[in-house]
Amino acid sequence: WTAKKRKPDWMKRSKLPGGDKYTEIKAKLRELKLATVCEEARCPNLGECWGGGDGHTATATIMLMGDTCTRGCRFCAVKTSKAPAPLDPNEPENVSKAIAAWGLDYVVLTSVDRDDLPDGGAAHIASTIRLLKQKTHGSLLVEALVPDFQGNMDCVKTIVDSGLDVYAHNIETVERLQGVVRDRRAGWSQSLRTLKRAKELGAQITKSSIMLGCGETQQEVVDALKALRAHGVDVVTLGQYMRPTKKHMAVSEFVTPEAFKAYEQLAQEMGFLYAASGPMVRSSYRAGEFYISNVLK
Ligand code: SF4
Ligand code: SF4
Repeated sequence: WTAKKRKPDWMKRSKLPGGDKYTEIKAKLRELKLATVCEEARCPNLGECWGGGDGHTATATIMLMGDTCTRGCRFCAVKTSKAPAPLDPNEPENVSKAIAAWGLDYVVLTSVDRDDLPDGGAAHIASTIRLLKQKTHGSLLVEALVPDFQGNMDCVKTIVDSGLDVYAHNIETVERLQGVVRDRRAGWSQSLRTLKRAKELGAQITKSSIMLGCGETQQEVVDALKALRAHGVDVVTLGQYMRPTKKHMAVSEFVTPEAFKAYEQLAQEMGFLYAASGPMVRSSYRAGEFYISNVLK
């Protein structure tokens, strides 16, 4: 498994988004004035996720609780402040109404971390999920990619009890690099504990993601996968870290597509329900399609 230092060809995506489903979803989005992470982050997977791939299951990601985070992870381009703007109390109603009218099959709700709020925003996220389920009569599949809530298990319970389909929280990197890559308030065991607790509290599926190319060794990736399984995590995704700006942490290496494939196979052998692993994979990559073909099969 070799890795490269310069941006290799496999990181250059040529295929432009297209397809009927993609065009329909995009047109509706303009009408609804909904902001997606997919568009704002100029995600290279937009065509595949919105186009729904072969299974025609369209996935999109929406960010809740504003655009400013109380943390400052070294890989992340989101704005940081100790005191972001207060939550918009109408957001759960407005966002759920717009998403329900949008015609998606699977939505990923993500958010900034709000350490300034007593519950980290858990009730706000949970209320959005509940409203989404009500407005779509349960037909929309909802994944929530949530913070660690500083290890507050009451917040984890609030999310699990909302009726979501997938509880996701990213460990982001291997154990040794946690302090280098993530904000100092985040941490390996804190993240793993919340994932384990979510499962114990009844989350149907738990999911986590790892970015590669941050300076980790292959053995450390294998150990991270083992730790996720040991904490009951069902689904894992692995993707290449891309530096958003020069101010962010540098890429240590570009991991080859073959190495990503090998990790995917290994994860499957370890008993993950499914694993998505590839240079362009992001935690929400084709999440709806994978869910439908592996969980609802
Ligand atoms: Fe970005 Fe999340 Fe870290 Fe905030 S907690 S800086 S949104 S990765
Ligand atoms: Fe959107 Fe996530 Fe797919 Fe990117 S990977 S297009 S952010 S759903």
